[in-house]
Amino acid sequence: MKTVGVIGGSGLYELKGLRDVRSVKVETPWGDPSDNFVVGVLGDAKMVFLPRHGRGHRIMPSEINFRANIYGMKKLGVEWIISVSAVGSMKEEIAPGHVVIPSQFFDHTKRRISTFFGDGIVAHVSMADPVCPVLSQALYKASKKSGAVAHDGGVYICIEGPQFSSRGESNIYRQWGVDIIGMTNMPEAKLAREGEICYATLALSTDYDCWHEVHDDVNVDDVIMTLTKNVELAKRIIKEVITTISDKRSCICSNALENAFITSKDAISDEAKRRLNILIERYIR
Ligand SMILES: [Zn+2]
Repeated sequence: MKTVGVIGGSGLYELKGLRDVRSVKVETPWGDPSDNFVVGVLGDAKMVFLPRHGRGHRIMPSEINFRANIYGMKKLGVEWIISVSAVGSMKEEIAPGHVVIPSQFFDHTKRRISTFFGDGIVAHVSMADPVCPVLSQALYKASKKSGAVAHDGGVYICIEGPQFSSRGESNIYRQWGVDIIGMTNMPEAKLAREGEICYATLALSTDYDCWHEVHDDVNVDDVIMTLTKNVELAKRIIKEVITTISDKRSCICSNALENAFITSKDAISDEAKRRLNILIERYIR
């Protein structure tokens, strides 16, 4: 049975309709994940759900323990992660209520730990194509089928937050050519790649940040209002997409670490091997 993880962002704190539901607390070498994982069955998939900001939305983007969240998913056997994320639109044609499946990220965060490696073991994975091409296409098709206005591809710029951008920043980001703006997909996608988990984002556009001359500047009330309208759509898309996800993977994500290690095998400390065991065991035997 395939195992699909869903990381719920702002507005998506639970996934209803699962069978055989249980709440699982996972211990990791990096401390506690955002909350307990909810494990259950949906259709023919084992589902693992985690609310990124914790239940009740207690954790701000800079405080998220991204390593613990992704490691927890890995430990629970997750091979595919659907990242549900509220974003601002940086393009006229991406209206509030639309869905975007980004193909690229620009990491503009400033104070986050973005790797499982270090402390005696070095690896450089490719982020040239930072999302899973298979899962992204499946999400795009499922979005269309579920009745969403969906945009295929685009650049997601990840800012540190928690403040929204200044108008000066927003205008500069637009000149850089980005399509959407958010606060959480980096380093989440980097860690998923290091964990050899397929990762793709279902981005829900909620506002026009603060660059638009006609629309109001982004604020939390409007974001939540647009999200509330779209959360059911996101759930329909998830239900639809899992029917098309395969049991076997053949994409770049599934062996991302194969040519990534630069530390010689005999130089990796036993402590590093223990800490990273579930990520690297098949390469250090
Ligand atoms: Zn993949």
